[in-house]
Amino acid sequence: MPETTASPQEDRWTVRRILEWTTSHLKKHGSDSPRLDAEILLAHTRHCSRIALYTNFDDELTDAHRQTMRELVQRRAKAEPVAYLVGHREFFSLDFEVNREVLIPRPDTETLVLKVIELLKPLSGPKLLELGTGSGCIAIALAKHLPTAVITAVDISSTALEVAGRNAKRHGVEQRIEFLEGDLWAALPADHDKFDAVVSNPPYICSDEIQTLDADVAKHEPHLALDGGSDGLTFYRRILADATKWLKPGGLLAVECSGEQAEPIQLLVESTKQFGPVQVTKDAAGKLRVVTAVANLF
Ligand code: GLN
Repeated sequence: MPETTASPQEDRWTVRRILEWTTSHLKKHGSDSPRLDAEILLAHTRHCSRIALYTNFDDELTDAHRQTMRELVQRRAKAEPVAYLVGHREFFSLDFEVNREVLIPRPDTETLVLKVIELLKPLSGPKLLELGTGSGCIAIALAKHLPTAVITAVDISSTALEVAGRNAKRHGVEQRIEFLEGDLWAALPADHDKFDAVVSNPPYICSDEIQTLDADVAKHEPHLALDGGSDGLTFYRRILADATKWLKPGGLLAVECSGEQAEPIQLLVESTKQFGPVQVTKDAAGKLRVVTAVANLF
C-alpha cells in the first residue's frame, strides 16, 4: 500500500482502511473473493481471528504488520492461493496445514467424506485405504469421524506425506493412520491386509485443460495432484484395475470426480463386472461428485 505523508484521520492505516484498500486491490487483480482474502491475510498478519478485526476496526497497524501485509497482498495479487500464503485451510471443520506440495482441500471433497462416513458408520474397526492422500485431509477427517477405523493412506510424493503426517499428529489420529509412499497400489506390501473401503480423490483434470484453470490452481497447485492424463480418467482406470484385489468382498469403492466424469466412471465400474450397482452422489452445489459401488460378494 502506498506511503502516506500528511496524517489526517482518514489517512491512518487502520484495520478498516487496510481491509478496504486490499479488497479493492485484489478485486482489480482478479480474486473471486477479495474481501474474504483481505480478512484472512490481515487476521494472519495480526495473529488474530477474523472476528477480532471487526472488534478492532479503528486500530492502526504497526509498521511491521503493514510490511507483512504489503508482501502478502503482492503475492495474492499474483494469484498465489490464500491457503498457501497463510499455511493452512479448513476442511470438514478441521484445520489442515497446507503448502505447495499438496492440493488445497476443497469444500467439494466434503461430499466424499460424508458419503464414506454414512456407509461405514455401522462397521466396527473398518480398514480403509486412501489412494493419493495429499494433505491427508480425507483420511484424517474419516479417522476423526469413524473412531474405530484403521486407515492406510498412500501418496507418491514424500513431501506431501510429510504434510499429511504432521496433520495426522495435529488432529491426534496418527496412531490409526499408516502412511505409505508409492504409486497407487504399488505402495502396498504384497502381504498387506485387505480393505473394507478404498477411497480416492485422484488427479482428474485432463492434461490439456490444466492451463485453462484459474491462475490460482494452474500456476500454484501441484500438477501431480491434478493431472488425470489425456481424458482425465487415467487414475480411475488404474484404481479399478486392482480394486477388487485389495477390497474385501462387499467392500466399498468411493471416488470423487468432476460432474462430466460420473457417467464414464460408472461405465468403467460396470465394465469390470466386479461391483454391484453404482451410486452417484451430488455435492452441495448440485454437481455429480462422488461415485460409489460395493464389490461383489463372490
Ligand atoms: N476439484 C479440483 C479442481 O477442480 C481437482 C481435484 C483433482 O484433480 N482431484 O481444481
